[in-house]
Amino acid sequence: MIQNLFRKQKKYATIPSPQVKKDIPEGLMRKCPDCGSIIVTKELEKNLKVCKKCQYHFPMTAPERIASLIDEERFFELDADLSSKDPLSFPNYSAKLASDREKTNMNEAIVTGEGTVGGHPCIIGVMDSRFRMGSMGSVVGEKIARAANRASMKRYPFILFSASGGARMQEGVLSLMQMAKTSAALERMHRNRVLFVSVLTNPTTGGVSASFSSLGDINLAEPKALIGFAGRRVIEQTVRQKLPDDFQTAEFLLKNGQLDKVVPRCEMRQTLIRVLDLHTVGGSLD
Ligand SMILES: [Zn+2]
Repeated sequence: MIQNLFRKQKKYATIPSPQVKKDIPEGLMRKCPDCGSIIVTKELEKNLKVCKKCQYHFPMTAPERIASLIDEERFFELDADLSSKDPLSFPNYSAKLASDREKTNMNEAIVTGEGTVGGHPCIIGVMDSRFRMGSMGSVVGEKIARAANRASMKRYPFILFSASGGARMQEGVLSLMQMAKTSAALERMHRNRVLFVSVLTNPTTGGVSASFSSLGDINLAEPKALIGFAGRRVIEQTVRQKLPDDFQTAEFLLKNGQLDKVVPRCEMRQTLIRVLDLHTVGGSLD
């Protein structure tokens, strides 16, 4: 009798998963993770992947971002064939690289090249968080350094979009060295008085936020982008203080003087053109 009583009790409660109910076929429709709206993918793409209802900025791939910036069909990719080795023989790293290459059709987490924006020739770099979370391995660092050197040499402005989880752990100290290498290349650019515009998108964290992405002559960011070095929990435990709710958002950084402007995506190209116009005299930078 007592045994029966126990047996009748349900061991586990069933919690209906809202996700199961609202699952929608991937491809045709997308669900906004912020406001929950269901958006036709084609409409979303027309609006540069920004939710019309709540202005949530969906992640953009590097090719999409480049297409949204440059004047028509004027982009020449550089160093497209550079790809990471596995210098530390890190378990599964080679396989993960191979699968990301296949998934993204890219060799690394950044695309660099030359293009014109509003008629201004520029060097452009765009990170892509689909590839190893946009982490900065030696190839990402090398491509940024080469792009900066090219910008110095040609005296073209350099526009760099960051989206990154930080250093790439599978490349250990070689990944961390990219912070110094990219910073040195940007310093040379600075001495040559060539403009560097850094645009931080969601998320820009770790070693990327602590090196090249914070070194712009002008630092812009997309709305609500997560930007920071260490995670909130780590900092709270270290400083033993509760951090503000908007801590590590683009808006918080703007308020505290670490950014020059938060620019919605639909205004990005025009804002960049304005910045380039202001810094270009008679077709050459001076
Ligand atoms: Zn939304």
